Amino acid sequence: MKKIILIKYAELNTKKANIGMFLKQLKMNLLNRLKKYEITLNFDKGRMFLETKEEDFSSVLEIVRHTFGIHEIVVGYEISDTRIETITNSLIQLLSSLSFKTFKIETKRSDKSYALKSLEISKALGGIVLKNKTNTKVDVHNPELTIYVEVRQKFAYIYTEVYKGIGGYPVGTLGKGLLMLSGGIDSPVAGYLTMKRGVKLEAIYFESPPHTSEEAKNKVLSLSKILSEYGSEIKVHIISFTKIQEEIYKNIPHEYLITIMRRMMYRIAAKIAYHSRCKILVNGESIGQVASQTLSSMSVINEVVKIPVIRPVACFDKLEIIDIAKKIRTYETSILPYEDCCTIFVPEHPIINPELEKCLEYEKLIPYEDLIKEAVLNETIITTHKKNEFEELL
Ligand code: ATP
Ligand code: MG
Repeated sequence: MKKIILIKYAELNTKKANIGMFLKQLKMNLLNRLKKYEITLNFDKGRMFLETKEEDFSSVLEIVRHTFGIHEIVVGYEISDTRIETITNSLIQLLSSLSFKTFKIETKRSDKSYALKSLEISKALGGIVLKNKTNTKVDVHNPELTIYVEVRQKFAYIYTEVYKGIGGYPVGTLGKGLLMLSGGIDSPVAGYLTMKRGVKLEAIYFESPPHTSEEAKNKVLSLSKILSEYGSEIKVHIISFTKIQEEIYKNIPHEYLITIMRRMMYRIAAKIAYHSRCKILVNGESIGQVASQTLSSMSVINEVVKIPVIRPVACFDKLEIIDIAKKIRTYETSILPYEDCCTIFVPEHPIINPELEKCLEYEKLIPYEDLIKEAVLNETIITTHKKNEFEELL
């Protein structure tokens, strides 16, 4: 008997024409994330089978459970042939390590030529359990333990542990997006949700030294490191926003500070996205959360770019976003108290319904095209890799 992790990817099965590409990426992502372990990974219609050393088993399982594109994970045993005697012996061997009072057996045959029908196999094996494990009872409705048996062409499988995967698509199958990553709670969650849809991320961070600190930047890098745990390394484009922000602050009526500042951020992000072959911008805007996220504000701000802007948390309440942030382990870092470039130049009364004509008029007061060019030219890029110990996160 060989202990294995069986990986199911149900949603991918609907991608008929592209299934090969999706599976190749999933395999690559798994191999990449499990680099430091000795593993073998095999395909068989609709599933993957992963083997590893007993001492690495639980760490490998945790990584598989946090890989996008996987719908269900089952831990079980591969039995060397499909004869009912061999299956029975393996089951008896397994029973000694299991403790339960009630159980049921569920059998599936993918080999339809097999001599026994599924129900007959379940009955026979159920009898074996009752005989070998005294004080147990069959309960088909609410069993403490379900023993799944699967008879395939060459091998049979018995498994008792079933885990839900995190779903989505393998990161990298749907192209690349540029995440506007601040040190807040919302944008890392937006990034995570986008990666879940198979999008590989690069990130852009606007800093305003000396008004913002090294710590604020490091916080963003830490967040991108955590995000990289769910996919692959993340390239972070760091843009110095000081000059633009100071020009805006000096020359533009303060109720429009945030609106114009965000229009500048979008313009720069679109340029970086274009050069990095990112097809979308992603950000953590949530409808109504602050003055710059009313529908009028969003529309006036969005007006400066053609690239699609995806806002995964647009319709979530803050509490819902916080819940996800806690689950994905970005929350603790996000709440570290370092200032962001948006928070230091906040006017007392930011406009809630900005007008496009006014934005255009005010923007004439600053040489923003030159400033943007300079900011883009002077970007620094830091690539954050996932931490070696994924387990630290769990
Ligand atoms: P977060 O949304 O990350 O929790 P926040 O709510 O303070 O932080 P806002 O000022 O509401 O952020 O900005 C909305 C979105 O704009 C952010 O979610 C983020 O995607 C983007 N953004 C804001 N500030 C920056 C920055 N300094 N660098 C990059 N992107 C930023
Ligand atoms: Mg926000």
